[in-house]
Amino acid sequence: VAEIGKPERAVVTTCAYCGVGCTFRAEMRGEQLVRMVPWKDGKANHGHSCVKGRFAWGYANHRDRVLSPMIREGIEQPWREVSWDEALQFTARRIAEIKAAHGARALGGITSSRCTNEEAYLVQKLVRAGFGCNNVDTCARVCHSPTGYGLKATFGTSAGTQDFDSVMDADVILVIGANPTDAHPVFASQMKRRLREGAKLIVIDPRRIDLVRSPHVEAAFHLPLRPGTNVAVLTAMAHVIVTEGLADEQFIRERCDTEEYADWAQFVSDAKHSPEVLEPVTGVSAADLRAAARLYATGGNGAIYYGLGVTEHSQGSSTVMAIANLAMATGNIGRRGVGVNPLRGQNNVQGSCDMGSFPHELAGYRHISDAATRALFEADWGVALDPEPGLRIPNMLDAAVDGSFRALYVQGEDILQSDPNTHHVAAGLAAMDLVIVHDLFLNETANYAHVFLPGSTFLEKNGTFTNAERRIQLVRKVMEPANGLEDWEVTQALANAMGLGWDYAHPAEIMAEIARLTPSFAGVSHEALDREGSLQWPVNAAHPDGSPIMHVDGFANGKGKFVITDYVPTDEKTGPRFPLLLTTGRILSQYNVGAQTRRTANTVWHEEDVLEIHPHDAENRGIASGQWVRLASRTGETTLRAEVTDRVAPGVVYTTFHHPATQANVVTTDYSDWATNCPEYKVTAVQVAPSNGP
Ligand code: SF4
Repeated sequence: VAEIGKPERAVVTTCAYCGVGCTFRAEMRGEQLVRMVPWKDGKANHGHSCVKGRFAWGYANHRDRVLSPMIREGIEQPWREVSWDEALQFTARRIAEIKAAHGARALGGITSSRCTNEEAYLVQKLVRAGFGCNNVDTCARVCHSPTGYGLKATFGTSAGTQDFDSVMDADVILVIGANPTDAHPVFASQMKRRLREGAKLIVIDPRRIDLVRSPHVEAAFHLPLRPGTNVAVLTAMAHVIVTEGLADEQFIRERCDTEEYADWAQFVSDAKHSPEVLEPVTGVSAADLRAAARLYATGGNGAIYYGLGVTEHSQGSSTVMAIANLAMATGNIGRRGVGVNPLRGQNNVQGSCDMGSFPHELAGYRHISDAATRALFEADWGVALDPEPGLRIPNMLDAAVDGSFRALYVQGEDILQSDPNTHHVAAGLAAMDLVIVHDLFLNETANYAHVFLPGSTFLEKNGTFTNAERRIQLVRKVMEPANGLEDWEVTQALANAMGLGWDYAHPAEIMAEIARLTPSFAGVSHEALDREGSLQWPVNAAHPDGSPIMHVDGFANGKGKFVITDYVPTDEKTGPRFPLLLTTGRILSQYNVGAQTRRTANTVWHEEDVLEIHPHDAENRGIASGQWVRLASRTGETTLRAEVTDRVAPGVVYTTFHHPATQANVVTTDYSDWATNCPEYKVTAVQVAPSNGP
């Protein structure tokens, strides 16, 4: 501030990093951003923030930003800067040629969970109405797609049940497969406040995360399970609750499908699901597991929070349903202080899913095969829609290798870095005739692109984000886009180059269309958001003020549905060559693949990814902290430095995935969730050996 001068004006907008959705006053002097000040009236953050939202916005002006469109005929050729018009005409012509030669289903698109709701909506509309197929997907494929599947199958709605403030009424907080201190810091602070007031904490995680023991907070139970055994642990907890008569019979009778409950209760009651029988599988002390289950069932309001340690498994969807089963069995749904709460990673991953970014669902999670829903969109959009669900990202890549998928539009996503089995992603991209990357930077995926369309930052656009608690908040333009166009304008310009005749003048008009076509958004408008500060969907005639708590009087599908979730061990096995299990996570100062946080002036962000290894495993291999090690799996290998620590259990190693040099996804496998194809990032059999460095 001293260098730039005092601010002259301020714009309230929403953080573009994580799913907490903190709001800030962006303080400006002229066209220069002076500082980001957490907004005291922010409904998700109440004036708090973490270091990323407050300080890591320098990437907006980083020299790596590409501001001119570029094209090239082949990926071996150099990029050529062109006008927007030439880039869009080239792209539209190539799309038309590929469609004529190979059919509409040879085309596809990926929406961005970093972009606004309005922008995600337009990309999926472009694919469905312009390309003529349903090959649209989102980065949620690799993070929270099992949340969408699992919560819809049990509760009828693909979203978390509570607002963040609800945690202040929780008596028992169960955190499974999440590390809020690093990944959702502002909410973690609120959770710790409640824990300091006396709420009890259960942590289910292979790693001793910060929450297990931090100043003035100590978990009542830490269940350090073997990676890949979530379902076994949750089934054992259910076994204790049912066999010891701790289930909430009244809630089940009044709110749930009782026949399904009876089947589920019989299943979990089987002796083979007892904590004692499963202890050798899970690695969790049966006594601790029994005590934790009793605490969750009888300790008052029980609230469950989970993250990617639940979803990124071959049984990700099963784990989400197992969590929902536990909450229903104990009556922990439908009031403050309870619930099932996915901690969403990206700022707008909830929103991109809400907007119809999945190949089988239109906005509001309505199946594409439903004729009445399709008819609603067809009448509004003036086109006939393909009734067949489209391809998911991994299936697009498989089809590209096979030659039947030829062109991909990727907005705000670096799939080469973020998706599993990097070699396979590269092979798929290299096989395509046309790859269009729409982003801030020439990312790794752009190495395989033929068209680069410059993107705009959250500071340069209007629209909305939806955070992990379904809270829709305005993103307000702080400065003009350096590339000349907001992302929704680029997608609209491409649509019009294809002859679609779109004429949105402002994202508010796109939201009006979303509200018109999506019952859960019927009462949402930019005007209402400006007036109210935020709204939590569903917002409609039944819930005119929005819905901080879901399922208060009933579930969206009538009765809550218990789904039997049998534990199935992953196909990824340890053995003599790969005896350790690798699991992954994040650190507070970095964000995902680091595209933004690595491009800030503050050197704090330049910490490297390290491999945590238990002292016992390190000693066996002659490895010391700070030493280079080679991390190898059946899929690939990489090199990084070791940190010897007992935060991880013997047999388990852990790393983060923020730096492209580490390429953690070179070692991850092709295994994925049985229901949604969410990759199994959290379980990879590996070997670790000393190395001389990269
Ligand atoms: Fe942004 Fe998340 Fe940090 Fe809030 S907690 S400032 S939303 S990164």
